[in-house]
Amino acid sequence: MAENVSRLCAVITEETIDAARAAMMRAATVADIIEIRLDYLTDFDFSNELSLHTLLDNKTHPVIITCRAMSEGGKQFIDDRVRLRLLVEGARRLADYCDIEADHYQQAATYLPDISRLIVSYHNFDETPADLGAIYDRVTALPAAVHKIVTRAKTIDDSLAILRLLEVAKSDGRNLIAVGMGSPGAATRVLSPSRGGFLTYCALDHGKESAPGQFRCDELSDTYHIQRISETTEITGIIGNPVMHSASPAMHNRAFEELHLDLVYLPFEVADLGQFVRRFVRPETRELNWNLRGLSVTIPYKSDVIPLLDEVDSTASEVGAVNTVVIAEGKLLGFNTDIQGAIEPLARTCALEGESCGVIGSGGAAKAIIYGLIKSGARVTVFARDPAKARNLSNAFGVSVRTLDSIERSEVPVLINTTPAGMRDHSEGSSPIPAAWLAGRKIVYDLVYNPQETRLITDARKAGCHTIGGLDMLVAQGALQFELWTGRQPPVAAMREAALAHLRRK
Ligand code: NAP
Repeated sequence: MAENVSRLCAVITEETIDAARAAMMRAATVADIIEIRLDYLTDFDFSNELSLHTLLDNKTHPVIITCRAMSEGGKQFIDDRVRLRLLVEGARRLADYCDIEADHYQQAATYLPDISRLIVSYHNFDETPADLGAIYDRVTALPAAVHKIVTRAKTIDDSLAILRLLEVAKSDGRNLIAVGMGSPGAATRVLSPSRGGFLTYCALDHGKESAPGQFRCDELSDTYHIQRISETTEITGIIGNPVMHSASPAMHNRAFEELHLDLVYLPFEVADLGQFVRRFVRPETRELNWNLRGLSVTIPYKSDVIPLLDEVDSTASEVGAVNTVVIAEGKLLGFNTDIQGAIEPLARTCALEGESCGVIGSGGAAKAIIYGLIKSGARVTVFARDPAKARNLSNAFGVSVRTLDSIERSEVPVLINTTPAGMRDHSEGSSPIPAAWLAGRKIVYDLVYNPQETRLITDARKAGCHTIGGLDMLVAQGALQFELWTGRQPPVAAMREAALAHLRRK
């Protein structure tokens, strides 16, 4: 049974046998293999392996049984002799595999396990130790069908060590499960099966994860299309910190799927940009054998990335921000699609030439839209809570900068919010300005896209203004990125639908 194995392993972390049985039925529809964490169960008789019948009699998929020691993340204390005997006997009679910690291997060996049904595992919830190679040697010296090394990825460099371990296992002809826990390890969870990993774990529902950073099964299959990723699949992704909330993976992976392109888009939580570019990106120095095609760049790296690139297009260099990197013919090329992406939704609604536009806020997004507005011939006034901080904008673009309160008396017909005011997990429900100041405006454009319906958008609609939400910019800048990476016409409607579905789930 060990050949032709499965890639997606749904982990069942239910507290009752009934709930676990129901979860197994759901898991069978989304995963290839199922792991039951017996240590989560509160109504299970651990002393008798026959109690596994209630869980396993009608199984339709291969099942791994696991009953973790508390020292390795187990949920309850179960005497090691009871626990190990249950796993060994359970795998011999009913399950397809049992997973036993390397530290308990010798004790488990006294119950004479069926080696062809044994997974031996090493976990480290604190870090990915520097001597991962020595750990691999130690764990794989223990006879088993599958070896497993799961460590906490504290930085994305740890992901590199984990992915390289898979390369070693592949050349050794071993079945290895290697995954990095936590958000910096996200790429290992998606890429590991394509690098020969025996499987990757996933949770059935949000909140049911058995380890930090675990994706939901439907995310791995429906967003990342993990079954189709191979070693030659071209890689794209978003670098920033944080990135796990981003709608871009949903949007870009859907676009690749729509056009049947062999590309995948991943989140890369990067703490040290220079090191990431050297070790993962630049073709002559990178330490990973992968087909990297391009990157989205987000907060806080849009400016910092510029000196690390070979060429930067004139718009991006004028505005001092790159949000898109293309890797072509060994070179790193920088672009900015935020500018056109921000302007497009507005330009579809009104002629910008000669139009008076008020921009609220003076950060990175403000800079992109101000640049685009000026290039489109609009007249721009910036409203900032601290006009002194916004002086650089007035120097760079020749725009006038006023205080936020002066919006009330200003007659600008087009108002654009570039502040995070109203954003989910930040200040949802609030608006950067009082509703009364919106009366008589023609257009209100809020760059905040989560939630789609911000307080500002609601107030503006009530005041009779035409409204544009931030989702339009998100999709427009993403569509331009897609075109830069693939040279194909972006499937904009599908991208929008995917971004929206992602935001609705959050
Ligand atoms: P940023 O560089 O941090 O700039 C934020 C600006 O907003 C700063 O000028 C800040 O003022 C100001 N600000 C913050 N809270 C405010 C408040 N309550 N009232 C008035 N001003 C306030 O951030 P950013 O990159 O420009 O992003 C800003 C927003 O745009 C975010 O919500 C982001 O989601 C959105 N955005 C959307 C898209 C899209 O595709 N739709 C793309 C990019 C950005 P101080 O300088 O005084 O702190």
